[in-house]
Amino acid sequence: MPELPEAETMARELAAKTLGWKIAEVLVNFAPIVASDWQSFTDLLTGREIELVKRIGKWIHFVLTQDHHLLIHLKMTGQFHFDAWPSSEWPSHCHAAFRLTHQSQEQTLFYKDTRKFGRLRAFGPGQLEIFLNHLNLGPDALLASAKDYHERLVNTKGKLKAVLLDQTVLAGFGNIYADESLFAAKLSPLREAKTLTLEEVKNLHGQAQRILKKAIDCRGSTVSSYQAPEGAGSYQDHHKAYGKAGQPCPHCGQVLVKTVVAGRSTVFCPKCQK
Ligand SMILES: [Zn+2]
Repeated sequence: MPELPEAETMARELAAKTLGWKIAEVLVNFAPIVASDWQSFTDLLTGREIELVKRIGKWIHFVLTQDHHLLIHLKMTGQFHFDAWPSSEWPSHCHAAFRLTHQSQEQTLFYKDTRKFGRLRAFGPGQLEIFLNHLNLGPDALLASAKDYHERLVNTKGKLKAVLLDQTVLAGFGNIYADESLFAAKLSPLREAKTLTLEEVKNLHGQAQRILKKAIDCRGSTVSSYQAPEGAGSYQDHHKAYGKAGQPCPHCGQVLVKTVVAGRSTVFCPKCQK
């Protein structure tokens, strides 16, 4: 959490509120939230305008003027909050503040993170590409073709659920959308990914696309604390497997079981998912 649909929703809603705005001032009140030293972080960002806000896998990417960039990994609980520029009191759980100006208007964008696992990075010209090469993200889970899925999945070692969570295989899946996609495709999370047939991968690709798009339409899933700038999402109302261990499978009535794969809780139907 947040995964591809939540990051996409945040990027869209941030773009609507900040495109063309200038970062006039940056404050950080919890230094470890910035992956580099905060002085170079603020120097790189201050005075730049926001040209684009988009998503790279599960990362939020602010494209700034003069080939400068702000890249944010939200980890467990990262989100954004608009409020007044902090004088002495900061809004709760907010760790970085960006004072944005546009003509005579002003607003402050806060990075908020209750668990504080998220990380913010700033890049100057030419630096982002080096960092992204180092990350080695796989094709985007939403934009990749069935052929991409097949090429990536059959060249792995490991269980299907673990492979889907590996961002170097496909970028964007997390626990929710991996469980939901495998349930819809009737594939066991415990299968070795390399044993999938082309037909099985095509079906998984189709189900994953349908689920990710529908989740974006619903502005993501709010299962614990997730909020986009415009509020909570509603895709949690459409979950069929994630978080539903002990409940009957909506297809066959068998009890959904919980196991752990790659250290992550995993829910599936032992009858439907082969
Ligand atoms: Zn079932």
